[in-house]
Amino acid sequence: MSSLRERLEGGEVFVTDGATGSRLFAEVRKAGVRYADELVLKNPIAVSELEKGYIDSGTTLLLTCTFNGNMAKMGPCGYSQEKVIGLNQEAVRIARGLAGERLVAGDIGPTGLFPKLYEPESGVTPQTLKNAFTPQVIGLTRNTDGENGIDLILLETFDDLTELGIAVDIVKRLAPHMPIAASMNFSRLKSSDRSLHTLMGVGAKELADFVIAKNLCVQGANCGYGPEGFVNLLKKIGTGNPDASLWGKPNVGRPTADFAVNLSDEEIRTVTQQLLDAGAQCVGWCCGSNQRYIEITASVVAQRT
Ligand SMILES: [Zn+2]
Repeated sequence: MSSLRERLEGGEVFVTDGATGSRLFAEVRKAGVRYADELVLKNPIAVSELEKGYIDSGTTLLLTCTFNGNMAKMGPCGYSQEKVIGLNQEAVRIARGLAGERLVAGDIGPTGLFPKLYEPESGVTPQTLKNAFTPQVIGLTRNTDGENGIDLILLETFDDLTELGIAVDIVKRLAPHMPIAASMNFSRLKSSDRSLHTLMGVGAKELADFVIAKNLCVQGANCGYGPEGFVNLLKKIGTGNPDASLWGKPNVGRPTADFAVNLSDEEIRTVTQQLLDAGAQCVGWCCGSNQRYIEITASVVAQRT
């Protein structure tokens, strides 16, 4: 089997999953925990069932249930470094066991500490972020059963390039050959030119420049503002750096408390087609989505290839 890099260079398109946190919300409440990631240890059957559902719907690039699995989020929930490493290893084991020939991406989200990084009195430093990501990266990349690990590290929903850079550097140091995807959360629309930016003001070009400087193989966007403007944003990232493959996973709509927005089958089909036309090779949906979104996306991808 060729590597992910070779398959992307060969033009293959992958369907990813998403909305794990919201899809597991009921189980999280039942278990009395804060994050869906904790279910990896407390209710692995719920995690397996969700991921099996993704695969049955057509996911070909399965994400581990580890979006919040860093020390900054897990530490306050009573997790030691060893337990965070173990949680991430177990999440890889679950996803890998279900994925078969499909690919598995080790999912890493932000620490939630980035604004404090810019407030000296907060005591949050680059080292704090390093300490937060290191056990997670160890767990995701040093698996317990030999060769059968992940195919890619996905850094997703990041708002800040400093935090993203710290996470990238840790992956490169601990797993030098691991392909890395950098996906940011472009949730703000500039009224002057209708362009999308992250909370910290990062635009498409800044991300593309960052991906060039760090020599990453996948770049893109997830979450954010919904499909509006998302395809143009992705095109701009691709123009800024044509050498990396594109990752695109919009929310179904603008973030609201309950994600009441629901796209019709036809709208899902249209957005997917636009994402593929923009050159996206890893496509899927973020907050507010469900299996119907993956099924339709997978059918569009299948028709095009
Ligand atoms: Zn999202």
